[in-house]
Amino acid sequence: MKGFVKLPLVLLLSCSLIKSIETEKVLNVSNEILNVPNYEPKEIKVNEDSKTYLIFVGAPCCGKGTMSKLFVEKFNFVQLSTGNLFRDHISRGSDIGKEIESIIKSGGLVSDEIVSKMVNEWLISICLEDKSVILDGYPRTAIQAQSLYEYMKKSGNLNKTKVIHFEASEECLVNRACGRLVCKNGKCQQVYSVCGSQAPKVEMICDNCSGPLIKRVDDSVETVKKRLAEYSAQEEALLKSFCELGLNVIHLEASREAADVFEELNALVKPKVGSDKK
Ligand SMILES: [Zn+2]
Repeated sequence: MKGFVKLPLVLLLSCSLIKSIETEKVLNVSNEILNVPNYEPKEIKVNEDSKTYLIFVGAPCCGKGTMSKLFVEKFNFVQLSTGNLFRDHISRGSDIGKEIESIIKSGGLVSDEIVSKMVNEWLISICLEDKSVILDGYPRTAIQAQSLYEYMKKSGNLNKTKVIHFEASEECLVNRACGRLVCKNGKCQQVYSVCGSQAPKVEMICDNCSGPLIKRVDDSVETVKKRLAEYSAQEEALLKSFCELGLNVIHLEASREAADVFEELNALVKPKVGSDKK
């Protein structure tokens, strides 16, 4: 019963809404996933048949944030935000939250193990919800990828997991990052892109208030290029680890308009909307 005591509050709260027998089942399942290394995957399938788990990988401004938002809105996906999870744990004062808080206070970095544990608990807590999942910004490292792989394998969800790599040229990413415009009108401050679907209807004029648009100063070409180079090294290592784990990585040409990317992603992923079960 030691694992039972260790279970996170969020899990207990979410499961308290479910019938007690199911709750018991899920709690036992959670223990197995978190604590027992050699567990039979078959026994821990919990209402997960129609789900898809999407892992989004891509540089800043590659458009994965926009796609996440669209999938959440249109197909009722639930999106993981590690930032929100950190804040949630800290505000609840959970064991993980206390640990994270002290690490942050001492200026340290939260370890892969802590992040992975937190995410695994979150995955368990949503396992009875009839929603597909987007993991955007997790995993970031080989260790996190390994942990997620183990979780997916043990929970019987490996074949529902897809890695989507958003590929865009450096030129495109730099243009997007540097091409942000903002309305000069302090009461409006609407943000636009120089080109693409977020461009203003009239060049350098705000659609909302007809005020003049100015370039945002925080994104210089050099800064953006440096950030991209750092990210690129990190991404290479991550993709390599997916490959070593035998996870199929789907490459998506993300330099295009958001509508085109969405259409292709939709076809690749085929979310089961309206649950027409076969
Ligand atoms: Zn304006």
